[in-house]
Amino acid sequence: MTQISDIKDKVDLVEYVSKHVTLQKSGQNFKANCPFHQEKTPSFYVFPDKQTWRCFGACADGGDVFNFVMKTQNFEFPEALRQLAEETGVVLRAGDKEKEEISATLKSINELAREFFTESLLGPQGKSVMEYLSDRNIDGDTIESFGLGYSLNDNRTLTKKLLEIGHKDEDLISAGICRRNDSGQLSEVFRGRLMIPIRMRNGDTAGFGARTLDNNRQPKYLNSPQTPIFDKSRILYGIDKAYRTIRKDNSVVVVEGYMDAIRAHKHGYSNVVASMGTALTTYQVDQIKVMAENVIMALDSDAAGQQATVRNLDSSWKVFQNPTPSRRKSSNIFKSNKNPIIKIACMPSGEDPDDVINRSSEEWDKIVNEAKPMFSFLMESLGDMHGKDDPRSKTQLVESLAPIIFSVSDPIEQEGYVATLRDYIDVKESTLMAALRNAREKQVTRSPRNQREVEIATAGDNYVVNDPLEAFCLKILLNVSNKKAYFELAKEEYFTVPENKTVLNLIKEDREQELTKVESGDVLNAVSYINSQNIPPMNIPDQNQALKQAIQRLEDRYLKNIKSEEELRFSQESFEDFDSQSESILKTNERIKYNQTRNLNEI
Ligand SMILES: [Zn+2]
Repeated sequence: MTQISDIKDKVDLVEYVSKHVTLQKSGQNFKANCPFHQEKTPSFYVFPDKQTWRCFGACADGGDVFNFVMKTQNFEFPEALRQLAEETGVVLRAGDKEKEEISATLKSINELAREFFTESLLGPQGKSVMEYLSDRNIDGDTIESFGLGYSLNDNRTLTKKLLEIGHKDEDLISAGICRRNDSGQLSEVFRGRLMIPIRMRNGDTAGFGARTLDNNRQPKYLNSPQTPIFDKSRILYGIDKAYRTIRKDNSVVVVEGYMDAIRAHKHGYSNVVASMGTALTTYQVDQIKVMAENVIMALDSDAAGQQATVRNLDSSWKVFQNPTPSRRKSSNIFKSNKNPIIKIACMPSGEDPDDVINRSSEEWDKIVNEAKPMFSFLMESLGDMHGKDDPRSKTQLVESLAPIIFSVSDPIEQEGYVATLRDYIDVKESTLMAALRNAREKQVTRSPRNQREVEIATAGDNYVVNDPLEAFCLKILLNVSNKKAYFELAKEEYFTVPENKTVLNLIKEDREQELTKVESGDVLNAVSYINSQNIPPMNIPDQNQALKQAIQRLEDRYLKNIKSEEELRFSQESFEDFDSQSESILKTNERIKYNQTRNLNEI
């Protein structure tokens, strides 16, 4: 008995969903207006017999109670597991409990440290810092709301305080508050700095950003080291304050620095978060994608014209085009992925959003309203950098932009970019199409073919239920040298185990080396399971054949699952409903039929 099945046994999906959505009976099933997208006629269904749900409308998403919790609460799988375990009274195994206890300890140390930093700021030693903040036009309300503080320079008081409360040396180190110096003594990480607590969505302090108050001192900003509860690449600064507005407005503005975000909130722009770095990471993008469809990235003017920025934006773009790991947003094979609309807002020369907002809200509004679509921005930046007038630079520009154009899954959106590029470089459409085809060929032949050994950590208590077919598929995918050829075929939605989706996406993002670094948790369990799959020795063509078949079996399984849900639903519907919805069922049937004939041809 696994914990997942334990939990599922204790939950009735209809009852569970009804707590969030008003369900209406439809034959043996239940329907409602989809809670995840706006609609007038219900396309959200719950199937009591299968204990699954599906939105047949814009989301084209579905799953079990875990997926429902993940989607409603914007949770990753482990969080959903935790919440459902709590709600059902299922006790998670010791490993997880231990992890929970550690993270509770670290959170409480961070909270105590935060309080201490605030006290220090408001006390006599913080006087000059308060002056600095007031010079920067940061008022008391903002200090309180963002929990700003000051770390004393004495390397002693905070440590002493935390130890007196009963925390151990090792916990202070794990929390990233202290480290051991060369002589083995505890030494405080943050000294004499303005402290900015970095909070999780629920408001818990995960770590700190710390700004130097002496402009000659480096680094200007120092962050908490990575800890079990703090990973800079996974957090958006300000999300605790911005979350609700972002969801409500369906729009988010991403700035780079803490002060930019703080300033924006101070002036009432409450949908602003900071990326705490120049390029958005996959994890950050995933969070953004489930919250909002309109994304504005605010760039400092100095950064805007630089090669590095273009590279960063290029990588952020690709991350946005990727399917969301462990959370399917709107991926249906008949429907293109609906990706956010990303725009770039450029600050005036020498200024960052903090400066602009501080000077004039109207100007900020104007800059944000006039933000340029990301594609045009990238195109023009590249054009400015490398030229766009002679045939050679035109070709180069097409080659640089081709991967971006190809990564867009929506054909209409893609066509729009082609048209923008055509006008920009002023060539005939047929010429541009030929250049794009050339670029694509070059891209394919350039991709690395050398086989890389993937070492996979082996360990872990196998509490994640894995799926042999998915694991087999992933194992071969890790082995073959021409992985990229399968990225289109192996769709995320075919995989049912959330960790397998994560593994698949890491492979697709060329980040599979990260699999060797996973140290604990569900992904490790999945990786160990994948690694434990026995694959008979095969030559390259056989491997490719086996992989193709495995992917196809996954697809068949996926389609049949949709089909059975569709049948369940239509068996209860009136003809009127049937008419309007019959298109999707026909498409599923066609696709299944197509796969069957393809099977016959291949055998
Ligand atoms: Zn929906």
